[in-house]
Amino acid sequence: MSTETTENPETTIRFSELNLAPAVLKAVEEVGYESPSPIQAESIPHLLAGRDLLGQAQTGTGKTAAFSLPLLSRLDLSRQSPQILVLTPTRELAIQVAEAMQTYARYMQGFHVLPVYGGQGMDTQLRQLKRGVHVVVGTPGRILDHLRRRTLVLDQLSALVLDEADEMLRMGFIDDVEVILEHTPATRQVALFSATMPDVIRRVAKRHLKNPVEIHIKSKTTTVSTIKQRYWQVSGLHKLDALTRILEVEDFEAILVFVRTKTATVELAEKLEARGYSSAPLNGDMNQSVREKTVERLKSGDLDIVIATDVAARGLDVERISHVINYDIPTDTEAYVHRIGRTGRAGRKGEAILFVSPREQSMLRAIERATHQPITPMQLPTHEDIVDRRITQFKQTITDTLEAEDLTFFEDLINKYQAEHDIGLSEIASALAFLVQKKRPLLMKKKPEPVAAKAFSDRPPRERSERGERGERPERSERRERPDTGPEAGMQRFRIEVGREHNVQPKHIVGAIANEAGIDSANIGHIKLYDSYSTVDLPQDISRDAVRLLKKVWVCGQQLHLSLAEDRSGGAGDVRASKPRAPRKPSTFKPDFKAADSRSKPPRKRS
Ligand code: AMP
Repeated sequence: MSTETTENPETTIRFSELNLAPAVLKAVEEVGYESPSPIQAESIPHLLAGRDLLGQAQTGTGKTAAFSLPLLSRLDLSRQSPQILVLTPTRELAIQVAEAMQTYARYMQGFHVLPVYGGQGMDTQLRQLKRGVHVVVGTPGRILDHLRRRTLVLDQLSALVLDEADEMLRMGFIDDVEVILEHTPATRQVALFSATMPDVIRRVAKRHLKNPVEIHIKSKTTTVSTIKQRYWQVSGLHKLDALTRILEVEDFEAILVFVRTKTATVELAEKLEARGYSSAPLNGDMNQSVREKTVERLKSGDLDIVIATDVAARGLDVERISHVINYDIPTDTEAYVHRIGRTGRAGRKGEAILFVSPREQSMLRAIERATHQPITPMQLPTHEDIVDRRITQFKQTITDTLEAEDLTFFEDLINKYQAEHDIGLSEIASALAFLVQKKRPLLMKKKPEPVAAKAFSDRPPRERSERGERGERPERSERRERPDTGPEAGMQRFRIEVGREHNVQPKHIVGAIANEAGIDSANIGHIKLYDSYSTVDLPQDISRDAVRLLKKVWVCGQQLHLSLAEDRSGGAGDVRASKPRAPRKPSTFKPDFKAADSRSKPPRKRS
């Protein structure tokens, strides 16, 4: 039996009750979120009131909107100098936050936000900074660089956000963050968000935040033991294609699919209808009678798939729901528990499937921790699985029809046809089978199978680099234990001119490459440190631009001078033959990055 502590994990407050500026409210309502996530409901009033804030929240909780909506509401558009600065650990996050802010500021005329990160031309950034921006979002290294060149002046700053502070610490940015904090007016408001609160972060908060409100979104949880929970790591295939593959092979009675926005409920329902699945949306914009009818159709079996938002599915109690699919991961663990509690009703068994993108790994772990239940990784059904499944279903349809129907009329008809045309029964049956399956062929054209995300493991990419898989173990013992077999398939070994004697650590190299060249850290392979230089495995299809950029990047006071390892040593990773270049020191400014960064009934489907 499933036990829950709550049927209403969502906050009941509405965005319209939060006193956001009208332009910001209009934009957020257009995005289609139904209600503020817990971190938003808690943070927005305090940030609107100008308080400093220390928020413990991970990616996926909606923290970007939690700080963006109130800070944008307080923005003075007539002042052209930066009023809000958001520091993020990676360029990807900087871009993501800048884009989210642009969306929320859609109705704020003349609003300018600038993402600032390493690897992007300094000139473009300078031009835009000169033109005047209201919000700057960037990685600490590049922001500090601009501060030192006086191309970014923060004396008019009214708010500073430290996003994913623990990641900035892990990537070695925390000193830079403190220097930046010191370049800001004492009157500025500070919001610090971190998934964890190590002592160092607490100390930074103590030193720079004034009487902050502390927000920790705790989960009151809940066990859901009759529900089998699985997740699919989103990679190489669109979520819609993944969902239809799952629908093909899962034995389901009825399915509830959760998405984040009202618009997405309608769009996904339409797409599934177009692919032959009877489905309907369920969201808060639909009037009560339409919502009730949809639920009635689901209960009666007239409808099998409902695409819902959290709010619209509150308290939904339909025994037929055999599966809950979290198409979009929820913004908090409570919402997850509520969502999957829509299956496994009345003591039945239930199945829950969660789609998790690489950036949402931490929310997956938070859900596992909160529910005290493992969520097991699942493989998507292959092309062959789907063909096997279609053939089994087709055979079953023949058996069921032979058992259930009076076929005398058709037997006579076929016998006459056979006599008239002098052909075998199997040929006639084949023609009829073809007609029956015409719209849903048993043999499909094979599409290429999705390629699994490179280097993906159960652990999030950043954790991997932290554990030092990429070479933090001493190189000599590693070589003794594990002969070097060269780079993995699809990877190429490069040499960089920074090594142990420069006190470099793999995380510095990962951080610099990820941020400067925009290569996802999951795609950075093995790193080996030698005394005066190191080797790093990078994707074979790395762009020329990225290589050019990485030649110039500075790490631990050394320019990387990236080059192909084979070019110089005659063998990947064979370093004794190579002669390291004399280290060169940067003359003027500090490098950008000190440390850079199953049910027995067959599914009902339309065919
Ligand atoms: P974040 O934690 O800021 O990375 O946000 C994670 C995701 O949640 C983003 O895709 C947001 O668009 C989405 N999101 C933010 N606020 C809400 C909300 N109130 N309701 C539903 N989704 C939201």
